[in-house]
Amino acid sequence: MVICYSLTHLQRELSLISDNYKTGFVPTMGALHQGHISLVKRAHELSDKVIVSIFVNPTQFNNPLDLERYPRTVEEDCKRLEEAGADIVFVPTVGDIYPQKDERMFDLGGLDSVGEGPRRPGHFNGVAQVVTRLFDIVKPRYAYFGEKDFQQLSIIRYFTKELNYPVEIISCPTIREEDGLAMSSRNMLLTTEQRAVAPLIYKTLKMARERSQAQILSPDELCNWVTGEINSNSMLKTEYVEIVNSLTLRLVKNWNDHEQIQMCVAVFAGSVRLIDNIKLK
Ligand code: AMP
Repeated sequence: MVICYSLTHLQRELSLISDNYKTGFVPTMGALHQGHISLVKRAHELSDKVIVSIFVNPTQFNNPLDLERYPRTVEEDCKRLEEAGADIVFVPTVGDIYPQKDERMFDLGGLDSVGEGPRRPGHFNGVAQVVTRLFDIVKPRYAYFGEKDFQQLSIIRYFTKELNYPVEIISCPTIREEDGLAMSSRNMLLTTEQRAVAPLIYKTLKMARERSQAQILSPDELCNWVTGEINSNSMLKTEYVEIVNSLTLRLVKNWNDHEQIQMCVAVFAGSVRLIDNIKLK
């Protein structure tokens, strides 16, 4: 496995890869866990060469404190990636990715009007900036993203198609801890007490899925129920609970108007913000 700490090094390595090879790309912000590793393993199944980037992208953080305390464990990450069989790890500098200030504003098709969009202004535009820049550099055939970040996945699919990138976006299922908590780099910021109660989030989502099948509660009522359940634990505080059409991300008001439905939540455990989602239909 080759580790490239600069753009020029990466470009040299990429130039050595045969044009016939299908390259698979896994962008990450590091602090890797089994969720990330599952993407790398999936990439191996479809691609001849697997490239992983580790870059904490400043333009997608709307909260400077969140950026500052985002965990950084590059050395350990590289060990895990080597074990998982990655071929190239790209650890660029901010200057490599943004030689000038990136002023680009992306059309996100309104997919950012719910969920994370209004709560993290500029976040998805920052995601679009970094992902397009990385696609331009790496020029992958396939790129792998986790369903854990459901809205991000939809938005990446949207602009990849809109901008005609010849990249196939492959989605990968959410990997969870044994107690159901979705794996996240932010989980390591939880205190022992917060970590102990965090599984309530997914437990409640699973109960909501069951309740949605009975269709006794309307989507809005079900969201209120989930909010109440999670907030009943004094260490957790929901920021939003939304039920959306899985394709358009429009808010769902009636169960029967939509074929595919997802419930998405953001929950604070102290100042640590956790997101999760579940397919209801
Ligand atoms: P991040 O480092 O948080 O930007 O995540 C990098 C990629 O890993 C994104 O495509 C995420 O959706 C994906 N990812 C993060 N956590 C998980 C998880 N628990 N299961 C599956 N994929 C994940």
